[in-house]
Amino acid sequence: MADGQRDAADKSDPAGGPLPARFADRAALADFLAEAFPEAAARDGRLAGTEGGRAAAEACLAAVDPMAYGRTRNHLDGAVTRLSPYIRHGVLSLAEVRDRALALVDKPGEARKLIFELAWRDYWRRVYAEIGEAGVWTDREPYKTGWAATDYARELPAEIPAGETGLVCIDSFAEELAETGYLHNHARMYVAAYVVHWRRVAWQAGAAWFLLHLLDGDPASNNLSWQWVASTFGSKPYIWNRENLEKYSDGRFCRVCPHYGRCPFEGSYAALAAHLFPYRGAEA
Ligand SMILES: Cc1cc2nc3c(=O)[nH]c(=O)nc-3n(C[C@H](O)[C@H](O)[C@H](O)COP(=O)(O)OP(=O)(O)OC[C@H]3O[C@@H](n4cnc5c(N)ncnc54)[C@H](O)[C@@H]3O)c2cc1C
Repeated sequence: MADGQRDAADKSDPAGGPLPARFADRAALADFLAEAFPEAAARDGRLAGTEGGRAAAEACLAAVDPMAYGRTRNHLDGAVTRLSPYIRHGVLSLAEVRDRALALVDKPGEARKLIFELAWRDYWRRVYAEIGEAGVWTDREPYKTGWAATDYARELPAEIPAGETGLVCIDSFAEELAETGYLHNHARMYVAAYVVHWRRVAWQAGAAWFLLHLLDGDPASNNLSWQWVASTFGSKPYIWNRENLEKYSDGRFCRVCPHYGRCPFEGSYAALAAHLFPYRGAEA
């Protein structure tokens, strides 16, 4: 480590660990990490775009637009807030975000969609408080897919996190997850459904992969959302099709995908469900 960098690090790190926790500025942190983890630097050495700390959290909160959020949140380029790492790590409270959203609208209903999502986070947190860490890693209910839990592979195929499936959408999401520590909610749902339903891999393997990378990684929201997609904490499996992805991404993946028109996501929901869940009862 260069002397300047060593000076930048606060050696009174209260954790007393081998790595310094405080730096003069973000550039000093980047320099330190590049030297300490050259394999990460070789991947391009950039820090994730999300900045830590209360000032950055307040700036992010100031940019929230509840009405635009309500109109566009499902779109991958929609006006989502990017608040989750701050909420996850206690820099912002859910109540604070709710109050800010309500202050920005004339009628409370105009902030409904954003507050609804905050309520999901609160719900997952409350479920976690009831069932604990072991509980969120355990299937809450059987799969409603016609497959038994034992039909699902325990390991994540290496090509999925490596971004080498050949499917432009899935590979792009895997790369974005590793590079930025963030994925839009819809992208998380697309990837989770692909892992569990198209590749028939147990949701636990996918959940563990996400937690390795997400800056907002949280066993409550993460695992229970994976379980919702899988149908072990919900009434039916979540699936999607190419048309849905194309709509919410403005076709940016499909346009350049060599599998366009014959990809695994091609077809109506009924046709995909019949293909993916051939043993599911007619009542499902
Ligand atoms: C498979 C999967 C894994 C997930 N893993 C995590 C995780 O580890 N940590 C995490 O915080 N969220 C997780 N989520 C929920 C959600 O995707 C993220 O909270 C959201 O995408 C974060 O981005 P944002 O702050 O821009 O969200 P916005 O869309 O701007 O939403 C605002 C806030 O509402 C809450 N929120 C939004 N959508 C959800 C949701 N579906 N469930 C619960 N809370 C929500 C979050 O606190 C978020 O910051 C997961 C969802 C899925 C489908």
